[in-house]
Amino acid sequence: MIKKIDSLSPATTRFAPSPTGYLHLGHAYSAMFAENIARKTKGNFVLRIEDIDQSRCRPEFVRAICEDLKWLGLSWSGPLLKQSERFQIYQEVLEKLTEADLVYPCFCSRREIQIELESAVNAPHGPDGSHYPGTCRNLERSQREINIAAGRPYSLRLDAQRAGSQAGPLEIFDLARGMIPVNPNISGDVILGRKEVTTSYHLAVTIDDAEQGVTIVTRGEDLLPASHIQRLLQKLIGLPETIYEHHRIIKGEDGKRLAKRHRSQTLKSLRDQGITPEGVRKKIGFTSS
Ligand code: GLU
Repeated sequence: MIKKIDSLSPATTRFAPSPTGYLHLGHAYSAMFAENIARKTKGNFVLRIEDIDQSRCRPEFVRAICEDLKWLGLSWSGPLLKQSERFQIYQEVLEKLTEADLVYPCFCSRREIQIELESAVNAPHGPDGSHYPGTCRNLERSQREINIAAGRPYSLRLDAQRAGSQAGPLEIFDLARGMIPVNPNISGDVILGRKEVTTSYHLAVTIDDAEQGVTIVTRGEDLLPASHIQRLLQKLIGLPETIYEHHRIIKGEDGKRLAKRHRSQTLKSLRDQGITPEGVRKKIGFTSS
């Protein structure tokens, strides 16, 4: 740790699960981690439901998330923010980014991208696999208009290079790791929205962290690459800078990151097995220092 939590001014932290299943031990760690910083700094801990993928999210999981957090003894301040109620807001920001020429429509299908990548000699790679090869980046405006008028499906991609030069040099301030220079191109031209769904994970998170007044974003270290993109978006949209702490990932007995397949590790099933919230803390080695 390069900075002691207690020395920070009151922080607003958040827990932002997607209601696509029951919370497991990994979520419990993440939620406790965030709540602990808020409590130690006499700040606020807020809750957000990341339910933009309506085909995978279910209301019963939202209820279960609230129940599990209460059972763990974690209480959040303010109203619950649900991303599914905010598409209009995301769309307005996306339109501004498009007007600023930082976002462009991409008409490529997955198959077309695949073929393009297979024929490329040295396709750049990022944490999410190969970068989008940029086929639609330089389409003529008139061609874009023709495609849209013809009703072709499209996604809206960030022009990472242009975004990076407009934003200038940026850093991620991570409480555990120190200053990390932002790589705007870490995942290439990421998708920020689609014709029908006017946001993406990155866009919604960036806008909502500001909406909820979050000052320290805490989450698993697997999401460190996402922080590069979100820090860049903060700057482009003109939102306040957050600081970060990326924590360790809780693994299952098989040594792999906990996921849906680890049904026995959900908080609901542990509770049914008679494990107490204290037992959960011990199991994940959570010390609230
Ligand atoms: N909703 C994301 C998840 O459940 C977390 C996003 C974040 O912490 O930024 O993995």
